[in-house]
Amino acid sequence: MTQSFQKVRALTGMKDVLPDTSGQWEALEAVVREWLSSYGYRNMRTPVLEHTRLFTRGIGEVTDIVEKEMYTFTDALNDEQLTMRPEFTAGMVRAAIEHNILYDRPQRVYAMGPVFRHEKPQRGRYRQFHQIDVEALGFAGPDVDAELIVMLSRLWKTLGLTDIRLEMNSLGQADERAAHRDALIAYLEQHKDVLDVEAQRRMYTNPLRVLDTKNPAMQEMANNAPRLFDILGSDSLAHFEGVCERLRDAGIDYTLNTRLVRGLDYYNLTVFEWVTDRLGAQGTVCGGGRYDGLIALLGGKAAPAVGFAIGVERLLDLCAQSAEQVTLPECQVYMIHQSPDAQRLAAKVAESLRDAGLRVIVHAGPAGFKAQFKRADASGATVAVILGADELAAKTASVKWLRVKEDGQDQPQQETIALDRLVTELKLKV
Ligand code: ATP
Ligand code: MG
Repeated sequence: MTQSFQKVRALTGMKDVLPDTSGQWEALEAVVREWLSSYGYRNMRTPVLEHTRLFTRGIGEVTDIVEKEMYTFTDALNDEQLTMRPEFTAGMVRAAIEHNILYDRPQRVYAMGPVFRHEKPQRGRYRQFHQIDVEALGFAGPDVDAELIVMLSRLWKTLGLTDIRLEMNSLGQADERAAHRDALIAYLEQHKDVLDVEAQRRMYTNPLRVLDTKNPAMQEMANNAPRLFDILGSDSLAHFEGVCERLRDAGIDYTLNTRLVRGLDYYNLTVFEWVTDRLGAQGTVCGGGRYDGLIALLGGKAAPAVGFAIGVERLLDLCAQSAEQVTLPECQVYMIHQSPDAQRLAAKVAESLRDAGLRVIVHAGPAGFKAQFKRADASGATVAVILGADELAAKTASVKWLRVKEDGQDQPQQETIALDRLVTELKLKV
């Protein structure tokens, strides 16, 4: 007797993409690849697993990700500390350094795929989610910073998204952040009574992050805190203005949000987020910025860089709110057969139809005409091709149109087509 097996479910916060919705993912991925290559970006693929120290160093010890969100474990085979990537940038930079690809010329690169963060699951917040990550390595800007943002605006337009707005800030350079830090810590000390536990813990290690709080009780305190933006020197301001004037050239609206700091430590100068009100609490669809110090921090020869990451689940959610969703049909042609001979012929004809570029399913296994027809309908096919005894004898196929054409043109419900004309006719009509 077989032992009963307790059903296994997916892990909390990790979602399956089923066949009826994967079409939306694939359509988005296709648009994204074309969009990125139109700006000269090339694909890069790095491993999901990396040494933990890459992320603790690259992202920063006192960040949400490193403090509490990483899937880290010890490889039992060789005792190494490993982490499932929580974002792409650190791995992309590691690979660029390791393979010396920044030596001769700068690189425009991108990656798409899953990343992992142990967060409390809710709408727009998962433990395995996907990012489209774009990095311009070796560019000092501000032209490339602006180009990345203009690029994003083009993507939103291509996807038909309108309710998405741009927030910008500058985090200046390390010396400016150091000068601001003392004033900020002094201010936070004066307002210790309103700081939550996390803020109290971070006020000395990463005080800027305290201002990024979502705690409603801390908003007024954060709004009135000394602003890093106000003490930026002329070089940082000129860089920021250089980005903004190019955005104005491109007709892109933005707001200055001086509290925008981003969740990772490595940013300097330009930071930005694209935000929407249509997704509830998790409204940031894309975040990015400049990280001129990271390449050297990870052991490479110093080089400037700028990039962004889009949250794919949030983007798809927003697309679903903004445009009608279409499910990809299983096939265009569904072949129905009524005898073993007809089934073998159907398999042959299907190959010729595929040669002509059509997507075809041949009904598998024996089944009555009615059952096969029901399947044909459920498959979303445009047309059912029926091979029965009469058709076999007459070397014809019965073709039944299952859907009204979008152009509204009249179409016969059913017709008989000679087998040697079938490929040509269907190629023309489907
Ligand atoms: P948040 O403030 O929402 O936690 P973050 O600053 O941690 O965001 P980034 O590290 O900038 O996010 O990641 C880039 C994008 O990835 C975000 O703008 C968002 O669209 C998406 N994202 C981040 N965390 C998650 C998650 N847990 N589930 C789904 N998407 C996410
Ligand atoms: Mg986060």
